Amino acid sequence: MIVYKFGGASVKDADSIKRLYSIVSNSKENLIIVVSAMGKTTNKLERIVALKMKGSNSYHEALIDLMNEHIKTMKELFGSGNNAIFDIVYGIFAEISKQLEDYNDNNYDFIYDKIVSAGEILSTRIVSAYLSVAGIKNRWIDIRKHLKTGSEFREGTVDMIVTENNIKKAFDFANDNIYVTQGFIGSDSEGNTTTLGREGSDYSATLIASILDAGKVILWKDVDGVFNSDPKLFKDAKIMKELSYHEAIELSFYGAKIIHPKTIKPAQNKNIPVFIKNFKVPDTEGSVIRYIEGFRPEFPVFIVKNEQILISVTPKDYSFVVEKHLSRLFSILNKLKIKVNLMQNSAVSFSVCCDKMESNKLKELLSGLKNEFRVLYNKNLELITIRHYNDEGISRMLKGKQILIEQRSRNTIQFVVK
Ligand code: ASP
Ligand code: MG
Repeated sequence: MIVYKFGGASVKDADSIKRLYSIVSNSKENLIIVVSAMGKTTNKLERIVALKMKGSNSYHEALIDLMNEHIKTMKELFGSGNNAIFDIVYGIFAEISKQLEDYNDNNYDFIYDKIVSAGEILSTRIVSAYLSVAGIKNRWIDIRKHLKTGSEFREGTVDMIVTENNIKKAFDFANDNIYVTQGFIGSDSEGNTTTLGREGSDYSATLIASILDAGKVILWKDVDGVFNSDPKLFKDAKIMKELSYHEAIELSFYGAKIIHPKTIKPAQNKNIPVFIKNFKVPDTEGSVIRYIEGFRPEFPVFIVKNEQILISVTPKDYSFVVEKHLSRLFSILNKLKIKVNLMQNSAVSFSVCCDKMESNKLKELLSGLKNEFRVLYNKNLELITIRHYNDEGISRMLKGKQILIEQRSRNTIQFVVK
């Protein structure tokens, strides 16, 4: 059995879904197909939630636009006939609309998960119906019934014991060879929908694969594989045909966007190879992430994170920065769910580099710190990470930049630059 995961780009319109069909029809194995929301649907649903929570009624229009986009794709796939899928999709939109209308509370993350998860319900309904119409028998599964998480909305942590049990029962391949299900979503013990964090579908795919001991996972994306630098920024970006689990985890930790940080571990635990392939050219090799003893890529790997903010704190009493201060600082960061990408301390100050944050979050952070610390911050910086660095790689990345922080270990060098 193998697991295919199709990202948003690979189901974004009718042509893409037809390509998905041809990829699936070429496979002779038992399959679980995990699907993301179509195209930019997740962003659009996020915006709809934001409008509603701001008290603006314009979410109605945005929802209708999104519905029309889905219907347009469906007409291209199914014609304008009376396929039951149209009723299903209209029903889903009616439900979202009602949920938004009825919601009067202000638990943002809770309603976010309820609404945003619809993107995956829609895409999987449409993909499953299209495969059926095209002659591929398959079973649609609502993964929320099986993939159970805590009640941390927008970043659900999976309850492994319950989930393992459920998944083994739900995907038993007794009467079916092909299943279609959602990435990114689950539900808590009370049945409330949860999500696993943006771009979490890859993680769903490897998680299901590891529970069921899949032979491999293929993540179908709109890129040729894992590159040693962002091909949009560097003309000479090179594809990495293979890399170890360990290297993949490191790269995602430092911010390589192609790999979601949680994706690799489940596959590594069961030694399941994870392929990254371009759905537009399914016969090209792509990249594979697998167990490789003592792996070292042939060339440096570059990761650039933009829109970084560097926050430096100095205790007001000029005492040395000690554990007491650090624990205070980190408890505020933790409370605000701010993730630290790099940190550095000196005798009297401590600096953290984080992703850009909403202005009210920054305000809250600064006001939480201001009693004990003098705080300085610098916005719009870049965090450059080079794995397996060499002098040439370093000078290329630093050309014209001013270095604010440098950190070097055996395999990795990082710079915060302006
Ligand atoms: N649709 C979700 C997102 O865009 C999950 C995913 O694509 O992995 O974040
Ligand atoms: Mg997506």
